[in-house]
Amino acid sequence: MSPTPGQLTPGLARKYQELDRLAGAEGIKLKLTSTARGFGKQARMWNAYRRSPAEARDKYGVVSEPAPAGRTRHHPFFDGKAAAFDATPTSWPEHKFPDKVAVQERVGELAEGLGLLWGGRWKKPDRVHFEEMVDGKRFDVSKAFQREMDKLDRLAGIIEEETA
Ligand SMILES: [Zn+2]
Repeated sequence: MSPTPGQLTPGLARKYQELDRLAGAEGIKLKLTSTARGFGKQARMWNAYRRSPAEARDKYGVVSEPAPAGRTRHHPFFDGKAAAFDATPTSWPEHKFPDKVAVQERVGELAEGLGLLWGGRWKKPDRVHFEEMVDGKRFDVSKAFQREMDKLDRLAGIIEEETA
């Protein structure tokens, strides 16, 4: 399944389209490489990376250490939609941007101008990653994950009461 803006929350889909338009106006062509990602796929990516970063790159296009399953905002936590996407520049004016990092930084600036979080600022930069902020903050992915796991437990009939 190839990634489409329709797999993103409506607000993030609009921002992706705006980012694509702003980048395009500077001659930068963007490709959407990842949107909503299931728990199983995330676990396979993470396991592949643990075995070998090269395998993870070849099989899944993983360019930096993936989050464990349940810990990524690519999961479809919002009515089946994701609050994060990955987008990579595929062509750009080389006289303006000498290398891929330079053009990724420009795209990051444009995204931040739209109020998106850009993964290029992290200690371990993930320059292709962009997220929607909820009320000015990153949403609590661990709570969202627990709700999903509770649903599975209820399906299996093994929900337990919290004692704390
Ligand atoms: Zn990402």
